[in-house]
Amino acid sequence: MNLDSHALNDAFDPEGFRRQGIDLINKLADHLKAAQSGRPDLKVTDYQAPEESLNEWKKILEGDEGRDDWWEQLIQGSIHLHNPKYMGHQLSPSLPAAALAGLAADFLNNGMGVYEMGQAATAIERIVVEAVAKAFGMPSGASGFMTAGGTLGNLTALLTARRKHSSGDAWNDGARNQPQHVVFVSDQAHYCVERAVKIMGLGKSGILRVPVDQNFKMQTQLLPELLEQTKKQNMVPFAVVGSACTTSTGSFDNLNSIADFCEANDLWFHVDGAHGASAAFSKKYRALVDGIERANSVVMDFHKTMMTPALATALVYRNHNDAYATFSQQARYLWDNAETEEWYELSKQTFECTKYMMGIKVFSIIRSHGFSIFEDYIDQCFGLAKSASKLLRSTSGFELACEPECNILCFRIADPSWTEEKTNEINSQIREAILQEGQFYIVQTVVQGKRFLRTTFSNPATQVDDFELLTRKVQSLATRISKLDQA
Ligand SMILES: *Cc1c(COP(=O)(O)O)cnc(C)c1O
Repeated sequence: MNLDSHALNDAFDPEGFRRQGIDLINKLADHLKAAQSGRPDLKVTDYQAPEESLNEWKKILEGDEGRDDWWEQLIQGSIHLHNPKYMGHQLSPSLPAAALAGLAADFLNNGMGVYEMGQAATAIERIVVEAVAKAFGMPSGASGFMTAGGTLGNLTALLTARRKHSSGDAWNDGARNQPQHVVFVSDQAHYCVERAVKIMGLGKSGILRVPVDQNFKMQTQLLPELLEQTKKQNMVPFAVVGSACTTSTGSFDNLNSIADFCEANDLWFHVDGAHGASAAFSKKYRALVDGIERANSVVMDFHKTMMTPALATALVYRNHNDAYATFSQQARYLWDNAETEEWYELSKQTFECTKYMMGIKVFSIIRSHGFSIFEDYIDQCFGLAKSASKLLRSTSGFELACEPECNILCFRIADPSWTEEKTNEINSQIREAILQEGQFYIVQTVVQGKRFLRTTFSNPATQVDDFELLTRKVQSLATRISKLDQA
């Protein structure tokens, strides 16, 4: 390029890009190697207070040092998902093949809202989503698209549900001119379902929380009674959301039972499978999501349990035609026939106008390593939670929230002499101390008033030995904290 602006000439210089790219990939590969080495001195996170971090980054921006040497500081200041002692929130460490596709996506920057602005990425996305529909066991004609996160996917699916399963037209006339519409969902569902309902203008009466059993699964036998009650109040239930699984404890609702209920009562069946729908990829764990093939729509996050960098979410419709109803301007949705649709015009179906090329990250994984890598990953990570639970059961002083079904495991340290309040307080302080030390990363959750330490095994490099070290750390912190408490 030969522009008047030297800055622009420099910034677009292909050789500069090549040099910087090689240098950055080297840094990231070194980081991956170190993380995998299991060196005990390597922290998962180097916790800094927000203000401290802000000041540091202001200094880096203004500093005199070379323009390129902030990458190391970026790596240092980030949490390290590739470290085997990362057991915290549900994101998985990204596979190099997927991360490289992400770089390509960022560089090519195809907007995908219209077909012309992303031909390859549009075709690839369809291939990926149809492979997912097939893994779920859905019939042909099942398809969908990818979207920016489970939160947006759930909102989109519920908008489709209301469009398809209500007599009025809230989309055009507004929700206030309609009878109260209601979504049934488990008491333990992710907060984004409630948010979606409220965004849809249904208010807090728009969500009916079905109580859960002792394993935090929806008590589906209560559904008929609840349906009767809402109808008596002149409300219009239109959808049931099954959790596969819940976020807090990783509990899978009985999807077949919800499907039976929805079929019998002409309700839309949506599965929030953001975390666990991927169980469909494993022969060993498939039973967890039996019935998913009967759902009208399913959301699945590739960034949670499929080693894909965020955000990458599939929204699958059993009948892909339904996807065109969501944002259609027509009062009654008229197209019945897939042939009249333009599957490749994604902005007709998605919230996004400019849409990120996320499908290529998943395609890159499949093309490089084959589909079976997802099964290997699920079996490894879900299996580890089972081993960890066994270890806890054979160690005195630990309680589990419930037996883990997937890679989420919630436990706490308890002592018969502690009150419930003290148990909650001690576990909370333990989690805080672990965050500050940075050797491990775990989170916490409160279910039905009890505070648990929450681990998600999303790094396939994590071994039972790593978890055992964590339990010892928890024990020693508990001793220290309860002594301080007495003093
Ligand atoms: C993580 C999660 C979500 C939200 O998905 P995002 O991709 O973070 O927007 C929704 N539902 C469940 C069950 C989840 O675990």
